[in-house]
Amino acid sequence: MKVRVIKGTNQIGGCITEVKSDNAKIVIDFGEDLPSQEKEVVIEKPMIEGLTTGKASYDAVFITHSHGDHIGLINYILDDIPVYVEEKSQKIYELLCDFTRKEAKVNTKRISFEEPVTIKDIKVTSYIADHSSYNSAMLLIESNNRRILHTGDFRNHGRKGKILESTLKKIGPVDLLVTEGTSFGRDEIEYDTEEKITEQAIEVFKKYNQIFLLQSSTNIDRIVSFYKASKKTNKTFIEDLFTATITSYLKESIPNPITFKDVYVWTPLKYRRKNEDFKNKYLKPLEKFSNSKVVFQDYSMMVKTSMLNDIKMLKAKGAIVNACLVYSMWEGYQEEESFRTFIDNVELLGIDFKIIHTSGHADIKAIKELAKITQPKKVVTIHTLNKEKSKEIFKNAVSLEDNEEIEV
Ligand SMILES: [Zn+2]
Ligand SMILES: [Zn+2]
Repeated sequence: MKVRVIKGTNQIGGCITEVKSDNAKIVIDFGEDLPSQEKEVVIEKPMIEGLTTGKASYDAVFITHSHGDHIGLINYILDDIPVYVEEKSQKIYELLCDFTRKEAKVNTKRISFEEPVTIKDIKVTSYIADHSSYNSAMLLIESNNRRILHTGDFRNHGRKGKILESTLKKIGPVDLLVTEGTSFGRDEIEYDTEEKITEQAIEVFKKYNQIFLLQSSTNIDRIVSFYKASKKTNKTFIEDLFTATITSYLKESIPNPITFKDVYVWTPLKYRRKNEDFKNKYLKPLEKFSNSKVVFQDYSMMVKTSMLNDIKMLKAKGAIVNACLVYSMWEGYQEEESFRTFIDNVELLGIDFKIIHTSGHADIKAIKELAKITQPKKVVTIHTLNKEKSKEIFKNAVSLEDNEEIEV
């Protein structure tokens, strides 16, 4: 097989990897350069011959997870090329598109964990990975007795962290490892676990009557952490409509208004301007789980940067007296204008600001575990700003530039 990183050897997010065998050609991930969970961004069509333009020359595209920097451009893929996405990741992406008026490709194909898909002489098997996006996948790509593991984004300090070791043991040794290296160049060796985040949250929540939580709605681990902290500090947990729509779809043990009696829904003011179709599809089904009285008890509420008017209204009603905004995302987003404006304005309302967060990405310790178990003959690092660091971790690190090819 031959592997070419079309994009991603010198950037975090927007990575596109091509794998070619004797007979087939596939692509792993097709996302936007700049991840954005709820902002409406204008994205230009990437011009890749045979994939987005001209006659289809690729056999399939596989998506590792629902973050915009991995899936966000799939609507540009030529119709003849099947796009494989795990069922829940696909649905989460569809919901995200509906809420941001972005177009989602609807004719994707489902892929299930540990059920191989054969594309001519290539076999692709997905394995569930721990990440800040629900049901993320690692992909094992096999052809002609060669094995490539593409990790996608992963970690082992989240709520599914323990499965990394057993998953990698199941996969076994590989010829080529294509791994994320997001943490390369950052100082910390070991990141806080989600359990630690719950503990930190309890300490902060105790000091306030109202907590506003600014986090990604698709970071389910974090929702669980903050729900647990809310229970421990006697706060009613309120999800904004978008978050509640996602958790209500996933259900299981995830805090959601339908199966959890103590989870409420807040419908942001901006959705009152949406059309009837949207209201029927998303507002009506969850209407009965909102209760205007819960904001007069102690509560923690998930918010979006578009909810400044909601917070102002709560303040005017006397439903904010001793409050804190908890920021729980990658620190870099704070520099984006929508975040900066929101945070500044919330602080002007006399609301405190605190950061409680842990990364969705593998720390150095997890990367070392990955190397130890998969014993790769060669390693290519993508999704990184510091690929040279991989030479310190992997004895077989190969430093590729975008569009350079490596033979396996
Ligand atoms: Zn990513
Ligand atoms: Zn991700």
